[in-house]
Amino acid sequence: MYKEVNVSKRIIMTPGPVEAQPRVLRQMSQTIVGQFDPEFLTIMSEVKEMIKIPFGTKNKQAFAVDGTSRAGIEAALIALIQPGDKVLIPAYGRFAYLLGEICQRAQAEIIWLEKEWDAPFEEKEVIEAIKKSQPKIVAMIHGETANGQMQSLAEIGEYCRQNELFFVVDMVATYGGVELKVDDWNVDIAIAGTQKCVSVPSGLSLITYNERVEKVLADRYQKELGLGDDEQSDAYISSNYLDLSQLEKYWSPTPINHHTEATVMIYGLHEGLRLMINEGMENVIARHKYNYEVLRESFAKMNLTFYGNMDTMMPTVLPIMIPKGVDGEAVRSTLLREYGIEIASSFGSLQGKVWRVGNMGYSSQKSNILLLLSAFETVLKAYGHDFDYGAGSIHALQMYQEKNDCAK
Ligand SMILES: *Cc1c(COP(=O)(O)O)cnc(C)c1O
Repeated sequence: MYKEVNVSKRIIMTPGPVEAQPRVLRQMSQTIVGQFDPEFLTIMSEVKEMIKIPFGTKNKQAFAVDGTSRAGIEAALIALIQPGDKVLIPAYGRFAYLLGEICQRAQAEIIWLEKEWDAPFEEKEVIEAIKKSQPKIVAMIHGETANGQMQSLAEIGEYCRQNELFFVVDMVATYGGVELKVDDWNVDIAIAGTQKCVSVPSGLSLITYNERVEKVLADRYQKELGLGDDEQSDAYISSNYLDLSQLEKYWSPTPINHHTEATVMIYGLHEGLRLMINEGMENVIARHKYNYEVLRESFAKMNLTFYGNMDTMMPTVLPIMIPKGVDGEAVRSTLLREYGIEIASSFGSLQGKVWRVGNMGYSSQKSNILLLLSAFETVLKAYGHDFDYGAGSIHALQMYQEKNDCAK
């Protein structure tokens, strides 16, 4: 006989997935209703409105795509790309290459703009590359999870809009942790996910797009065979499941038949967004920022340094250089095995060189951070790193105590 699954308690301080809000998990155990049940349609229409708030948009279109964040990224890119279209991808980290991977499969002509991963681009560098390569689409990452760097977008977005290009931005790692301004930055399609700062299990992707994209989708819409052949398009999108033109209608007040919505996930998403919005976006962002400062200052007190340019780091992931002589994987596995705390390693050229500490959503809370820092100091000492033991965790404690005193 198989035993019932019984998962150990974890403190997850990685850049995703992070701990789910307990209230989200409770919502996800509610009863199933039909996907076109009027009660469910009300939940969907609230979710649509709530998704827009952390994105900073007044777009009409915002909804969830079933599948993890990359499902939304793929849906966005294949909605715009026709074979042979030029896409410029400025890459300052690992996830830009995921955009490229998707564009390649969509048979786009990809123009890469590549650099070291230690900092994002100067916006004018990207604008120069656009002038030179004349793409139809510019696709970028707002916050690069692999190296903890964050790209400014406003000037690039403005240039794209003036020149009628499409600007697609992956905001998976920053949504719900950093102030986003999709409208002000002239982003045409923005994508996020659930398992990062929204503190909902992975499985849904969040997307918003403007009227320019709605127009493209209207031309590419084709009614699903079996529902009728009265609406056909020569330019139909080459995926059924990720066809934004159908998904848009599925999420409209008069939904068409498409997939069977993952109702339980939508209950969870509703609660995750609701809790975040009720906390107040300004407060949510300030909490991430303060906890990030505590982490950064406290790790520095442990005689540790960070990867990359300090001025362009994003507050949701902290990349720490693994000190010489310390076995990075042994530190990570000891933290997990003995303390139940998970931190991440990195990818590509940073593999084995940096640890990444996530500061996201429900995981970004004082008790987690104090626990992580205390445990980390002990493990780091045990694995031979030379520093003033206690300095980091005491500093963190003092920072929180001072903050509490100020709040009184
Ligand atoms: C996590 C992440 C993704 C991929 O997300 P999945 O939900 O695993 O598909 C894409 N882009 C960025 C920037 C990420 O941080």
